[in-house]
Amino acid sequence: MEKQESILIVDDDELLCENLASVLSEEGYSVVTVNKATAAIEQIKKQFFNVVLLDLMLPDMGRIDLLRIFSKKFSEMCFVILTGYASLPSAVEALKAGAYDYIIKPFNLEQLVNSEQLKLIIERGIEKQRLLIINRDLIEHLEKEKYKIEIILDAYKKISGILKLDNLADFATATAIQIVEAEKASLMVIDESSGELILKGFKGLDKEKIDWRMKIGESIAGWVAKEGETLLVRDIDDDPRLKIFAKNTRYKTKSFISLPLKAESRVIGVMNVTDKLADIKIFTEEDLRFLTLLGHQIVAQIENIRLYEKLSSLAITDALTNLFNHRYFQAQLNLEIMRAQRYKHSLSLIMFDIDFFKAYNDRYGHLEGDRVLKEVAEVMRQNVRYIDIVCRYGGEEFMIILPETDIKGAKIVAEKIRKAVQTMSLLNSETSKALQVTISGGVATYQEGLSKDNFISRVDEALYKSKSAGRNKICIFE
Ligand code: GH3
Ligand code: MG
Ligand code: MG
Repeated sequence: MEKQESILIVDDDELLCENLASVLSEEGYSVVTVNKATAAIEQIKKQFFNVVLLDLMLPDMGRIDLLRIFSKKFSEMCFVILTGYASLPSAVEALKAGAYDYIIKPFNLEQLVNSEQLKLIIERGIEKQRLLIINRDLIEHLEKEKYKIEIILDAYKKISGILKLDNLADFATATAIQIVEAEKASLMVIDESSGELILKGFKGLDKEKIDWRMKIGESIAGWVAKEGETLLVRDIDDDPRLKIFAKNTRYKTKSFISLPLKAESRVIGVMNVTDKLADIKIFTEEDLRFLTLLGHQIVAQIENIRLYEKLSSLAITDALTNLFNHRYFQAQLNLEIMRAQRYKHSLSLIMFDIDFFKAYNDRYGHLEGDRVLKEVAEVMRQNVRYIDIVCRYGGEEFMIILPETDIKGAKIVAEKIRKAVQTMSLLNSETSKALQVTISGGVATYQEGLSKDNFISRVDEALYKSKSAGRNKICIFE
């Protein structure tokens, strides 16, 4: 019967070595024999032996060698001392130093070789060693698990304080590669307006080779988002579900996890980990369990962030036109006035009012009026710079704050918008007739020391001038 275990016999009695080796080989052990302590040390440095049968009375063995043999490095080998009656005290010393057991050499070689006791000691020693190794692995495993749980708990605390999706994704991917010992991780979130998966965070991936966005159903992450199914793939070449996807050469190993992030049953994103760092290079069920734990928290926070963003944008935007609201206008104008004063920048304001809008409403209805408001708002938005702030000031009145813009520049923008509104064709859904509206505008620029309210009065006055002068005009405050 072939056994896995190996035995090293160290004795200067060559005949004894030979006989023991043959008996133990018959038992199925693989046996190596050496005759010197130095050779024994060389041998056990090279190879692991389950059992070392060691004669302490070797010509080249001193106390130092003994301690060296029982040093930590060899502590998983099971040392059994072969000793004569005369040297029993050294055997006891060896036991104290960590030897497993000793056996007294009988005078008769036959007797030792056929000794059931020897076989029993070896068997028990191996069994004990096996349990010790299992125990050690278990402790190592628990330590590792404990470490990962600590990372997750710590992440739980930190995640709830992250209020930006990009930051959350960065943090999540960094945590993911730690807990599953992977080289690469990415987090994709489904964009609510386009319905596509957008990459929000990644670690260990080459920026050049990244798919920044993909459609649901497209490629592996897209498949996971569509099916809502977790992929724990040990070997991508062997997985029938993945046959349809082209081979991806950017990964070093063939194992990965792709985890759908679900709020209730709705998929809101996908988290991927690839290139396992550990020796086996294959992700385990346990990795998946840890990643899922992290995933739950990420989902909760993505939902929180979205809610938070919705609420905070509600507070500053107007629901009909999506422009900034009156309150935001007041606050921003304050800020811009302070900036203009501090940096000696110019700052201008445009005010628009739709002409004869009451009549338009009366004639075509309030809903049609609302539609016009939205379209006019859109024209304004499209005709200003990124830094300009377009607001719905009141019912059909609009304000545009133009930082770092003088009166001439503001007038040009106002004219551009006035013309764009005039040429805008509003197709009436019922009559299919093209309708038209016009707007009047006033322009004012900030002057040192002017209060916010006076600044607004000036632009209002300029608008009034346009109205009095016949409407569909832009006037400047002078
Ligand atoms: P003008 O400004 O040219 O002097 O005439 P006007 O008719 O536009 O002036 P006024 O300020 O008297 O009337 C504003 C009208 O705008 C009143 C109302 O019918 C309309 N209006 C205000 N807010 C809304 C809104 O939210 N939706 C719709 N559909 N109409 C609105
Ligand atoms: Mg008005
Ligand atoms: Mg009006």
